Amino acid sequence: MNTFDRLKQVAGHFTEDPAEIAPHLEEWRSKYKGRSPLLLRPSTTEQVSAVLAICNETGTAIVPQGGNTGLVGGQIPFNGEVLISLGRMNRIRGIDTGSHALSLESGVILANAQKAADEAGLLFPLSLAAEGTATIGGNLSTNAGGVQVLRYGMARDLTLGVEVVLADGRVLDLMTALRKDNTGYDLKQLFIGAEGTLGIITAAVLKLFPKPAVRATAFVAVPSPAAAVALLGEMQAKTGGLVSAFEIVPRIGIEFVTAHFPGARDPLTAPSPWYVLIEATSAAAFDLDTLFQSALGSSAYVSDAAIAANETQRAAFWALRENMSEAQKREGASIKHDVSVPVSAIPAFLEKATVAVERAVPGVRPVSFGHIGDGNIHFNFSVPKGGDAAAFLARWEDIQRIAHDIVDDFSGSISAEHGIGVQKRDQLARYKSAAELDVMRALKRTLDPNNILNPGKVL
Ligand code: FAD
Ligand code: ZN
Repeated sequence: MNTFDRLKQVAGHFTEDPAEIAPHLEEWRSKYKGRSPLLLRPSTTEQVSAVLAICNETGTAIVPQGGNTGLVGGQIPFNGEVLISLGRMNRIRGIDTGSHALSLESGVILANAQKAADEAGLLFPLSLAAEGTATIGGNLSTNAGGVQVLRYGMARDLTLGVEVVLADGRVLDLMTALRKDNTGYDLKQLFIGAEGTLGIITAAVLKLFPKPAVRATAFVAVPSPAAAVALLGEMQAKTGGLVSAFEIVPRIGIEFVTAHFPGARDPLTAPSPWYVLIEATSAAAFDLDTLFQSALGSSAYVSDAAIAANETQRAAFWALRENMSEAQKREGASIKHDVSVPVSAIPAFLEKATVAVERAVPGVRPVSFGHIGDGNIHFNFSVPKGGDAAAFLARWEDIQRIAHDIVDDFSGSISAEHGIGVQKRDQLARYKSAAELDVMRALKRTLDPNNILNPGKVL
């Protein structure tokens, strides 16, 4: 029997119909396109195990896919690899409210995991714009962040246990709900953020939290990124660490959003060079609105502030932040980066890197925004007004090199949120030390000696 026939026999479910495979070959922005002759859709760990054993024995490359919302091409089979979709592994295995732990299969959609926690009176705080499509397996494999990292951490911090099928088909059962376990290496962390290159995650135990009862949201004018960082420290101190989101937006961002989204408006009267969106949540006993009023009213770092009086206003504040990417797209060509530096270094980084890019491209419009509370900035630039889009985009690598070299000077990361995939693979050699790359390659060789798992991604 040939390899494909063997795979089809053990996978539980498969298709070779190009029309059914097609949606799995292209990601949502149509930036990356791949090809694959065979899509496997297992629904049990045993099936995944049998599939990988055959792939390993025959040297057949395989690409794992969840919701196909990844932004760096990691889930795309570029060279005709077999695709394995975990979407049918979508069962909730159980919830242990006493341990605040949710056990589920990796194909469960993030929004459904949130819902399962909510129905048990608890919170699973991972939240991002793709949550209606992205899966837990994809979230863990990309160590997803989102809008509440400041308070709850990234996927890595939200995972208690995993079940992983290794390249040779062995099942590594690390499905524990333990909060404390110091019995040697923490193996689950190897597979989180590995982008499907070290094993296939088939299940996980996720950390749950008390569900907050009240929320305060403010749209605040600040004179500079330095004032924003100082205000973050002040707000964390005054709320006892209850700030869940702290996002920065520049004036030009508000101009883009109000220009391109009918109905969007600046809630403050006078323009300000920078704004922060601040949100905090707590138990019902706290009067967060009053706390926000006094803290923001007395802060030396705040020029003006509006506190959302109701859910409609809150949504309008968030829309100003969340429509930034789309508004920048409608404004014309843009060059983007997803970088992080230590939070305290953000003001100096922004200053130095912005000046460097402006020097390289006179008239370029800086549109840096994002998760300043996590030290993570979408360090973006729009084409000069009236400038030639193609000529501007031709400078992408050049600008990226300038930006990433300065990120490196600040001991930052060239990919804070979205991973490496194929997009940034070739840059790793420049920014990781030889020792780091050696250890990464050694891990890959040990766990996947035949290089069958998502070959060509990350390394
Ligand atoms: P896929 O795209 O299918 O796969 C992603 C990677 O994981 C690939 O390398 C794939 O091979 C691997 N993989 C998938 N499943 C498994 C598995 N079971 N075992 C092993 N490997 C696997 N990310 C953030 O961090 N923060 C954000 O705020 C954010 N916002 C987003 C907003 C939008 C509109 C979109 C489209 C994406 C956003 N992302 C964000 C990107 C984010 O990485 C993905 O949305 C999500 O985490 C990926 O899940 P997925 O199931 O779609 O994975
Ligand atoms: Zn982001």
